Amino acid sequence: MKFKRIVLIMAMEDEARSIIHELNLIHKGKLLSPLPMAFYEGKYKSLNVDLVTSGKCYKHNVDHIGPQAAILNTASAIGQLHPDLIINPGTAGGFMSAGGNIGDVYLSYPMICYHDRRIPLPGFDAYGVGSYYCFDTREIANSLGLKTGVVSTGSSLDYIQKDLDMIKSYGGVVKEMEAASIAWVADLYKIPFFAIKSITDLVDNSTPTEEEFLKNLESASFALSREIIRVIDFLANHQE
Ligand code: SAH
Repeated sequence: MKFKRIVLIMAMEDEARSIIHELNLIHKGKLLSPLPMAFYEGKYKSLNVDLVTSGKCYKHNVDHIGPQAAILNTASAIGQLHPDLIINPGTAGGFMSAGGNIGDVYLSYPMICYHDRRIPLPGFDAYGVGSYYCFDTREIANSLGLKTGVVSTGSSLDYIQKDLDMIKSYGGVVKEMEAASIAWVADLYKIPFFAIKSITDLVDNSTPTEEEFLKNLESASFALSREIIRVIDFLANHQE
């Protein structure tokens, strides 16, 4: 694992705040004007560690969450920063039925799929799901005591039954809104990629997702920052 330039692609400023703080990253303004992505630069031991958030929507004044901004963010970050590893830290929904708990942190493995691109045409059905393979995170997960699993991406925070059926069909255990998009762009450039996701809410319990998400965002973001730093430290210490 000889990575020198790591870029963290993130959706929400609230999720990124403690990572930026703990890694002492420096805010360098917009990554590539006029795009809204915000660029933070830093170093960890021998590694360059940069972070790019998708910034705020000037029209609606909220973070640019979701798969579209994640693609623009990743493509711009690759063009500007030339990473040799891309990581997507973020929060996500977990599944009680898969043994998930709030505060768990997962590394993506073996793949990342889309659950809401339903295209019932030959060939396009599988294209819609994507099934992007990611970097083999098992060694990192085993060493650090993290869970691994299939991450599932869609455009919505809530879900309909068809989303759940799709997630079940490929054994998804983590539901969020960016990872598959980042995986797609990373795959086009053949840059290794994985996601690290901290569970804010459980999809298959009775509490509405938005209520649980807001209640647990702070503690899950803290767990996320603690674990991404352990992962980066592992990468810095395994440079052969
Ligand atoms: N309204 C919230 C925004 C939450 S959107 C706010 O006011 O801050 C959800 C973000 O968290 C997305 O970036 C997504 O990747 C992640 N997420 C967390 N739980 C999720 C779930 N159950 N389903 C989909 N995305 C989830």
